[in-house]
Amino acid sequence: RLIFFVSDLHLSAQTPTLTRIFLDFLGSRARAAEALYILGDLFEYWVGDDDLEDPANAAIAGALRELSDSGVELNIMRGNRDFLFGERFAAATGARLLTDPHVLSLPAWQFVLSHGDMLCTDDAEYQAFRTQSRAAEWQTAFLAKPLAERRAIARALREQSEAGKHEKAQGNNAYLMDLNPGATEDFLRDHGYATFIHGHTHRPATHDHIVDGISVERWVLSDWHEGDGPVRAECLVWDGEQLSREKLT
Ligand code: MN
Repeated sequence: RLIFFVSDLHLSAQTPTLTRIFLDFLGSRARAAEALYILGDLFEYWVGDDDLEDPANAAIAGALRELSDSGVELNIMRGNRDFLFGERFAAATGARLLTDPHVLSLPAWQFVLSHGDMLCTDDAEYQAFRTQSRAAEWQTAFLAKPLAERRAIARALREQSEAGKHEKAQGNNAYLMDLNPGATEDFLRDHGYATFIHGHTHRPATHDHIVDGISVERWVLSDWHEGDGPVRAECLVWDGEQLSREKLT
């Protein structure tokens, strides 16, 4: 049986093609899986589980529910855009919400899964926001605001983050948007040199790390993309023996 991994779909009203590809995937290819792991940033933003009232979000949640009802184990990790997934979302989709990181032990292999943003430790400004926004008090105060206001705040944060990304991509600052090498090495050691799968950086690649003389693989998931350039939609597949990338376009 197959296990599928995806992340960074960033679905929104602006991604009709990606949404269609994802819904097709859930209704067809994904049914062959034993389990599907969505490792964060399924949505461009999620401002609380009352976002389920949005018809497009409801359609995606419904398709996830059909997948989990069909017997595919559905596991969803929160990303930095959809860290406010709560119990209502989990119940609506039939998903298990994973803590980040999550150890996945299979008979044949050991994996550790993360969205990836927690290891981008060079971006101090982002890490400060991350710490603040994961605190219960911050979330309670935020969720108490009206839905329209939360959406406006999310839009503003996203614009700030896009502008910041542009700035960070200039010159010698690109490292800010990637995992810190030392933090990554510590993470791999702390997780017993398990194969590491994550997303977030939008830099799909397979890296070989040598940690304490042990070779450890790190698979960076592809983000999904439409707009300028070709449509990109991809999943990672574990077939019981090896990982491979599968295009969904
Ligand atoms: Mn992310």
